[in-house]
Amino acid sequence: MLDATRPLNYTDDDGLIAASRFRHGLLWHLQDMGKNLIAPTIGFVFMIVDIMLGRATAFEWTLLAVFIVLSGIGLTVGLHRLFSHGAFVPTRGFKILLGALGSMCWQRPLFLWVVRHRLHHGHSDRKGDYHSPHVTNDGRPLTNRLLGWAHAHYGWLHLYDPPVIAGSPLIRDLEQDADLRWIDRNYYVFFWLSLALPALIGGLWYGTVEGAFRGMIWGGLARLFLFFNLTWTINSVTHLLGRRAYRARDESRNIGILGWLFFGEGYHNNHHAFPASAKMALDPWQFDIGWQIIRLARALGLIVSIRPLPSEAQLAAKRVRPGEAVRSLADPAGEL
Ligand SMILES: [Zn+2]
Ligand SMILES: [Zn+2]
Repeated sequence: MLDATRPLNYTDDDGLIAASRFRHGLLWHLQDMGKNLIAPTIGFVFMIVDIMLGRATAFEWTLLAVFIVLSGIGLTVGLHRLFSHGAFVPTRGFKILLGALGSMCWQRPLFLWVVRHRLHHGHSDRKGDYHSPHVTNDGRPLTNRLLGWAHAHYGWLHLYDPPVIAGSPLIRDLEQDADLRWIDRNYYVFFWLSLALPALIGGLWYGTVEGAFRGMIWGGLARLFLFFNLTWTINSVTHLLGRRAYRARDESRNIGILGWLFFGEGYHNNHHAFPASAKMALDPWQFDIGWQIIRLARALGLIVSIRPLPSEAQLAAKRVRPGEAVRSLADPAGEL
């Protein structure tokens, strides 16, 4: 597993995904909506009320910031760059930490996250992509922009059931790792820890049950609301708006402000053009917090090696020239 020299599998060759759709009923989707939308939104409303009543102190803001950063590390450095794309090789301890932090983002167990994300790359903006603003998972075009945005932002979570993925070639590399199998199996331990930890900190800080509740709201549910929406904005908006700097076989775009704000993830076109690059900021003016965290972890000895970053020649070969018409959905046989 996590062999930084081996190419990864991004296509659903065995058809497992298609064969396992629509297993769950309405009740399952309603309880899932509770986790994805209702509970985090209630937390966010509590947070807004706190702010309006002037009850938000430096403690609440700090707690929110710390848990956003921990979630960011778990998501972009862990689930995304490491587990989905094998961009670097971590030490065992750092790998487990990243798996734990990623699982605390409430974005499904590790293996499922990776399967969906690898399919997003292998079938990007085409049949088989779970969260494209241009096409449904079964290949129907989404011509209305607003509808496409809503599909890619949130709708996809309830339009398709999570596929049965055990044994899929898409995650064979990860399933061989006993630590990752344990993290994947114990997803709900980390799920609840994601609320219990900030509640514990709030309780200790204030010394009251109300303090624990405030910790759970600010570091837990409200943080999840903000973090979900940042993640979903990357899924939806960066396949609709922004600049195409490099040729990729999809509609991915770079949005500078989202790159700065969301740990480098807003340089989404860079990422689709060079998915295994640990660094998403490829131009000098771009800033990628995720990459800075990877550099720091490497300096601290938490990362053993990093996959070679794209060379100048590789960048130049894919760079979109001024005035160049980029092939995309209109030409499925277009350039990779
Ligand atoms: Zn994408
Ligand atoms: Zn990716």
